[in-house]
Amino acid sequence: MKEMYKNFGIADAVSDFCLEVEASLKDRFEKLDEVAEYNQMKVLAAMQKHRVSAECFNGTTGYGYNDLGRDTLEEVYATCFKGEAALVRPQITCGTHALALALMSNVRPGDEILSPVGKPYDTLEEVIGIRPSKGSLAEYGVTYAQVDLLADGGFDFDGIRNAINDRTKLVTIQRSKGYASRPTLSVERIGQLISFIKEVKPDVICMVDNCYGEFVEKREPLEVGADMIVGSLIKNPGGGLAPIGGYIVGKKECVENAAYRLTSPGLGKEVGASLGMMQSFFQGFFLAPTVVNAALKSAIFAANVFERLGFAVIPNGSASRHDIIQAVTFEKPEGLIAFCQGIQAAAPVDSYVTPEPWDMPGYDSQVIMAAGAFVQGSSIELSADGPLRPPYTAFFQGGLTWYHGKLGIMMALQKLYDANLVKGI
Ligand SMILES: *Cc1c(COP(=O)(O)O)cnc(C)c1O
Repeated sequence: MKEMYKNFGIADAVSDFCLEVEASLKDRFEKLDEVAEYNQMKVLAAMQKHRVSAECFNGTTGYGYNDLGRDTLEEVYATCFKGEAALVRPQITCGTHALALALMSNVRPGDEILSPVGKPYDTLEEVIGIRPSKGSLAEYGVTYAQVDLLADGGFDFDGIRNAINDRTKLVTIQRSKGYASRPTLSVERIGQLISFIKEVKPDVICMVDNCYGEFVEKREPLEVGADMIVGSLIKNPGGGLAPIGGYIVGKKECVENAAYRLTSPGLGKEVGASLGMMQSFFQGFFLAPTVVNAALKSAIFAANVFERLGFAVIPNGSASRHDIIQAVTFEKPEGLIAFCQGIQAAAPVDSYVTPEPWDMPGYDSQVIMAAGAFVQGSSIELSADGPLRPPYTAFFQGGLTWYHGKLGIMMALQKLYDANLVKGI
């Protein structure tokens, strides 16, 4: 192995250090493997129950009536995630689209949406109209209320009770911290929050933004009372193979509402050709538990490597995991840049390019991004990015295989080592 690492330009000191960190993580990795095996069984059982067959991989075109693959895949998702129904489509273009669809189809003018966990993911600000935007829910007379988490990360139960009113129709709960600094919510904590909300108002719809959370734990939010979970297929449940798509799983009525909005009133789930996507959707879902396992190992390995070297990491090296995102803070722009360049250099695609900070539209500082992915923008594949402003934090996620994730971290550390930005190796 040492020779292999050397071929990638990794110094003995760096690989020795990394292998020592890896050895210390054996017990944690065993626990992750147990979760992955459990989730693999869940996926397999759902596929067998719904009799997935070779015919399911035949694509339809045009209207897509009676698309066996599409309909079977939706049953598999519903069974695996414990919902009554599912909408899983290539016509859902991304996670934001899936979330916008779930929201817009389940509220009506005059209703209010509540986020009891603080500010939602950036792109949802425009969907809801927190930032004014064409076509937002605000333009349709849907209002928005927000209750922030307490300073210690806990739920502000009094604030939430006070915020729920006659017009509160839907509560949106984001599982992953995304790129914020609050803790990610465990499924158990989501359950506690939903129980409280349903006590105050039983008929409110509880939607969970499940992005980056699928298959991290043995349970999903529908098992603790959520009415709807929503996510992207170029993250966890696509298993790296789905080239596009999003899903909504949950109560039949919520999913039907979303289908009537995605296609048309009167048409709903009956139309929507699968266009040859079905094999990658099924196969990606089949692989997803082990792909998420690889991404989690990579994240935990990164946390421990950089924590030992004195960098601030969120979550810390020993924290239990509820999503696949890892933040590492470098305090210096050179550190963030070197980290991203190392991740890029380890990629299977575009490894020969060097990422540089650039003025990305919509951001107030320069951003650097590393991604050498098979599917453009896929963040279940090994990727890292961060804004060029203090404290110079890299957000790192993904890794289709643990060995690739590990090499990515080793290459990132090597770049920092080459630039004299680490002490203690
Ligand atoms: C990625 C993500 C989204 C948006 O998904 P896109 O596919 O990027 O549109 C929404 N919420 C969370 C928590 C996410 O991680």
